Amino acid sequence: MSRKKIVAGNWKMNMTIDESNDLINKLKEVSENNVEIKIAPSFTNLYCAISLLENSGIEVIAQNVHSEKRGAYTGEISAEMLKSIGVNTVIIGHSERRKHFNETDTILSEKVKAAIENSLNIIFCIGEEFSERESGNHFEIIKNQLTTALMDLNNAEIKNVVIAYEPVWAIGTGMTANTNQIQEMHEFIRKLINKKFDNEISDRIRILYGGSVKPNNAKEIFSLNDVDGGLIGGASLNFADFHNIISAANG
Ligand code: PEP
Repeated sequence: MSRKKIVAGNWKMNMTIDESNDLINKLKEVSENNVEIKIAPSFTNLYCAISLLENSGIEVIAQNVHSEKRGAYTGEISAEMLKSIGVNTVIIGHSERRKHFNETDTILSEKVKAAIENSLNIIFCIGEEFSERESGNHFEIIKNQLTTALMDLNNAEIKNVVIAYEPVWAIGTGMTANTNQIQEMHEFIRKLINKKFDNEISDRIRILYGGSVKPNNAKEIFSLNDVDGGLIGGASLNFADFHNIISAANG
């Protein structure tokens, strides 16, 4: 089964509005037909990014969403607000949210439900800590993260989900998981999806790798059987690097 690759840039808490517009104006010129390109600017830059990228084929997505519809949650953004400005996809479960903002598997499962109820697509991030891999618990950790958040979804709902496997120890560290570690975990994730859902769904679901993907390693990583593209942090902030990574996914 051939799955269209995705390259998604997670800008995290970077980019003023001028910096964001500048990078977007360069990205607008990129035309790689065999890859879905997405960028996740910060909330303050979303609306402007959407207008600048109208009809460009590049999707603007959000980095986070709150699980409640509205109310007294100072500083938070709801799924309905995102939809109202034209955002159709949100990243949920990034390890930085889990670590710095105490987002537990249960909280994340509520966010997944809220996103689904509002017809938002999801990039759901999972990943183990280095100590968990060293002690041989990485498969168990990944299974638990997936089970709590996604295994209650039905066949129609899971179709709106892309999974991003991001070993925490590889994010922003320059340490990439090796190709055996990546392929082995992606295959494990696809098998878990297969056990719960049907063959068609496990064949079609896209599983991205994230963790220090750079122009010099992207091609090798994207060529692995069960890798359907990447979630890119640091390298997505630099036009040349991000463009090279997109080209690597384009084939
Ligand atoms: C990320 O933030 O999801 C990520 C993979 O970051 P980096 O590419 O910088 O490791």
